Amino acid sequence: MERTQLLNVLLELSASFGPPGQEEEVAAICRRHLEGRAVCRRDRLGSLVAEFAGDGPRVMLAAHLDEVGLMVKAVTAEGYLRFLPLGAWWEAVLPGTPVRLKGRTGEVRGVIGSRPPHFLRTEERRRPLAFEEMFIDVGAGSLAAAKAMGLEAGVMAVPDVSPEVLAGGVVRGKALDDRVGVAALLAVAKRLAAESHPNTILVVGTVQEEIGGRGGRTAAQMLHPDVCLVLEGTPADDLPGTASELVQGGLGRGPQIRIFDPSMIGNRRLIEMVREEAETRGIPYQLAVRETGGTDGGTIHLVDLGVPTLVLGIPVRYAHAPACLASLDDLEKTVELVSALIRRLDMVTVGRL
Ligand SMILES: [Zn+2]
Repeated sequence: MERTQLLNVLLELSASFGPPGQEEEVAAICRRHLEGRAVCRRDRLGSLVAEFAGDGPRVMLAAHLDEVGLMVKAVTAEGYLRFLPLGAWWEAVLPGTPVRLKGRTGEVRGVIGSRPPHFLRTEERRRPLAFEEMFIDVGAGSLAAAKAMGLEAGVMAVPDVSPEVLAGGVVRGKALDDRVGVAALLAVAKRLAAESHPNTILVVGTVQEEIGGRGGRTAAQMLHPDVCLVLEGTPADDLPGTASELVQGGLGRGPQIRIFDPSMIGNRRLIEMVREEAETRGIPYQLAVRETGGTDGGTIHLVDLGVPTLVLGIPVRYAHAPACLASLDDLEKTVELVSALIRRLDMVTVGRL
């Protein structure tokens, strides 16, 4: 996929609506890019699978379609929407965020309300609001008006942020965790369709990752992979105030190999293979040992007798915040690395993992 095409796919994916459990719009974009190249199907939770049939081992490539979102819990008499977080949000980033909701009768725009500083006491300014104190304002004015807009308990919302290209091939947009991974997945699939490879490739867009790796688990149970690579928009840490020796996910510094997080230990032999391949090709990479967090790898590697799995990250600054940044260079390098790895994963190599 050309750089411009890759960029356009990423922008389209970033703009699409896909909180956990409502990923259909993102899945439809993927299907459009994959159909004609591979047979597409879904598991019963909604994860999308495109199979590139071949011999040899079953290689699963997974990226999650969903993004952190919000779910309406109740509508007040004045038409304000109270909500729950879907996925790990930090409360402090939410107030003042413009949002898009999918009401029962169509799309609605609004904003997460915040009390202006004029009305805050000193002690209130010192702590972020709790989710229970926040609300979405769609300008309804009454419960009846909100209802007429199709707004009720269960309606979901995501940030209303249009993707933009900034300087130096950096993209700003919502949901770059994990739409960068999904864009990489689609680009790898496009390359595969034009090349020969020794294995069966299972390209999987998983659902409900942000609430506990649910779609990754059911997809892997359906597919019985022999090996899995998870492509993840991983939180970047090259921020002011972080000691340079602690930076493990810098923007523009290449794909990140996740050695450890509390949900999974990356397969050691797979890690060595990825490093060899990156070094041969002159692709820079970063190693991550994470004290917190988890990915689809956490559930996928425990399916069947265990699946040798590795998470490759594309660094995303401000992950799980309304507007994130990611680098097209990192995305391109990840596509190149993953495409090369797939060609190496034959019966003998996978048998040694
Ligand atoms: Zn993610």
